[in-house]
Amino acid sequence: MSATLIKGKPIAERIRAEVAEEVKATGHIGLVTVLVGDDPASEVYIRLKHKAALEAGFDARDVRLPAETSEDDLLAQVAVLNADQEIDAILVQLPLPGHIDEARILRAIAPAKDVDGLHPVNAGQLFLGKPTLVGATPVGVMAMLREHAIEIDGARAVVIGRSNIVGKPMAHLLMQANATVTICHSHTRDLPRHTLEADILVAAVGVPMMVSPDMVKTGGVVIDVGINRTEAGLVGDVDPGAAEVAAFMTPVPGGVGPMTIACLLQNAVRCARYRRGELAYPG
Ligand code: NDP
Repeated sequence: MSATLIKGKPIAERIRAEVAEEVKATGHIGLVTVLVGDDPASEVYIRLKHKAALEAGFDARDVRLPAETSEDDLLAQVAVLNADQEIDAILVQLPLPGHIDEARILRAIAPAKDVDGLHPVNAGQLFLGKPTLVGATPVGVMAMLREHAIEIDGARAVVIGRSNIVGKPMAHLLMQANATVTICHSHTRDLPRHTLEADILVAAVGVPMMVSPDMVKTGGVVIDVGINRTEAGLVGDVDPGAAEVAAFMTPVPGGVGPMTIACLLQNAVRCARYRRGELAYPG
């Protein structure tokens, strides 16, 4: 068997075109990205997000702060952005420098502008199964599954990784779509026992090619969220050889990555609808 590749780019391009139409129709969507320090990986992510926002016609602001910025100064900056009527969506790029309490910063973002869905109110709404702002990566994965008409209802889904930004929201979205979900992490015993049962396997770990072909269910769906920079270039968390076992698989690069950017813009549209009162913010 050779898996059908679930490519993110064509789906992402369509979403980005829809978002650009929305900007034209409404005249203005303001997204601000905030980067503290000069972490090279974060720089790349911010550049890609900012470029995509500009291409969609957003009022895209790129705030750069030095690594030594204090927690209080960053909180003050967030407060200014919360109050700014031109800003619909705020993204504070993680990780923040070690002297800043990330949770405190994320709690300070106005929940209706929290484009990454990391504010406790948005995370709580997701936990309660209510529509809300949810991180762009898991939203993008759901869009990929839907695009390929993959049956989620009743499926066994296994998510490897339990981060707040990917693993946990991913598991919640799959559960909301009526999958039976198992979350695995670094303390999970006998990982292959779980992964081999997965009709849908999502790997969000950050360990290059840790999912080997013999860990994948024959005919299953494999979503590789991992982006790992190695000497051999960018690789995912899944060995590409798993495509010989799976029925569907996302490539790296060109799989989930483009969807994250597109769905971030889509989330910003949601924020703008909250601000305009077209959608009631649920919190
Ligand atoms: P985190 O480091 O925050 O979380 C990694 C998770 O993997 C943790 O829950 C950890 O378990 C678990 N884990 C680590 N080692 C193992 C192991 N050997 N077996 C089982 N579980 C393990 O990472 P993120 O969630 O932020 O990101 C995960 C990956 O996805 C990274 O490669 C990142 O670059 C990529 N990414 C890609 C995006 C995209 O657009 N494609 C967007 C965001 C992230 P524990 O909790 O026990 O420590």
